[in-house]
Amino acid sequence: MKIKSVRARVYEWKGKTVPPQGNFCSNAMDLLYAPQETMSTFRFHSWTVVEIETDDGIVGLGNVALAPAIAKAIIDQYLAPLVIGQDPWDYEYLWQRMYRATHAWGRKGVTMAAISAVDLAIWDILGKSVSKPVFKLLGGRTKEKIPCYYSKLYRTDLKEMQAEAQKFLDQGFTAFKMRFGYGPAHLQKGVTENLKSVEAVREVIGYDNDLMLECYMGWNVEYAKRMLPKLEKFQPRWLEEPVIADDIDGYAELNQLTSIPISGGEHEFSLYGFKQLLDRKAVSVVQYDTNRVGGITAAHKINALCEAYSVPVIPHAGQMHNYHLTMSTLASPMSEYFPMHDVEVGNELFYYIFDGEPVAENGFVQLDDHKPGLGLTLKTEYLKDFNIVE
Ligand SMILES: [Mg+2]
Repeated sequence: MKIKSVRARVYEWKGKTVPPQGNFCSNAMDLLYAPQETMSTFRFHSWTVVEIETDDGIVGLGNVALAPAIAKAIIDQYLAPLVIGQDPWDYEYLWQRMYRATHAWGRKGVTMAAISAVDLAIWDILGKSVSKPVFKLLGGRTKEKIPCYYSKLYRTDLKEMQAEAQKFLDQGFTAFKMRFGYGPAHLQKGVTENLKSVEAVREVIGYDNDLMLECYMGWNVEYAKRMLPKLEKFQPRWLEEPVIADDIDGYAELNQLTSIPISGGEHEFSLYGFKQLLDRKAVSVVQYDTNRVGGITAAHKINALCEAYSVPVIPHAGQMHNYHLTMSTLASPMSEYFPMHDVEVGNELFYYIFDGEPVAENGFVQLDDHKPGLGLTLKTEYLKDFNIVE
């Protein structure tokens, strides 16, 4: 079996969107001038889909959501020629070929995300070629089904946040992640608002359920040091990405500061990036996304590393590619889960592009033992709502 062609297309959403509140989540831009403008324009409204076809007619699907148009250019110009004509079963060699050929200017960020998309499509081919789901090629089933935590609870009116928490509590979820709306620029009033929002959600879900707190890199070390002791009484399962991804010392310092575990990794890349985080004890929960970190080839190795360090892996974003990794390793106790809803920020857009994404039941997702590959197909229902760039 040889790879015959690689096609990368950008799906640009042009359908209806429901804009969330401007400060629905703190973010790295908040520390700059005019923070009120940042999240109000923060969107992931396009996605790159990669289709790799083999000479015996198997088509593998991969995807990348980071800087999709640039990822497409990298795939078209640099990565496709490196894998065309090659045997997809030589996936480790092909991964190293892509990684090393782009090393001078790649390594992390959008290049690694582009490599991830190609790698995902290759693994989809491998599964399809032997009629096995990808998780069966990685270690198989380690769980009856995958526990997942409900992830959204963007900062908005507190009554609305409580109603949202109640709705998904009623659907059987036992773990919830909420976003902070405020950071250092909002001074003490923002601290008060942040605490009020945690209290409001805890009021609904009680203390028999897990609560995760998301900063999305919108704080700094000084602000996090003020917030963490105040948050301890709410017993969060973790505090996510308090500072920018490059501040590994900051993560390490905060992770030793209180009883609250610090999580991160959705903006970290490759085995080397995670070895650094783990060596420095910078995170207590690893949250790579398979479609950024280097695909399944890299994520599988990071799972082994995390197992050895006894640090749980709870991948970013839900999505099928991550569920296969969670299913196949004991290092991963659960998955994130975004529900399908109207298009807002774009986190939910994959539901509009792919058929086959599992829907949570009672707080669990299930993978089919008999669906080959990743188990996704391209959806036709919303095609009219996308502009597709060939
Ligand atoms: Mg996150």
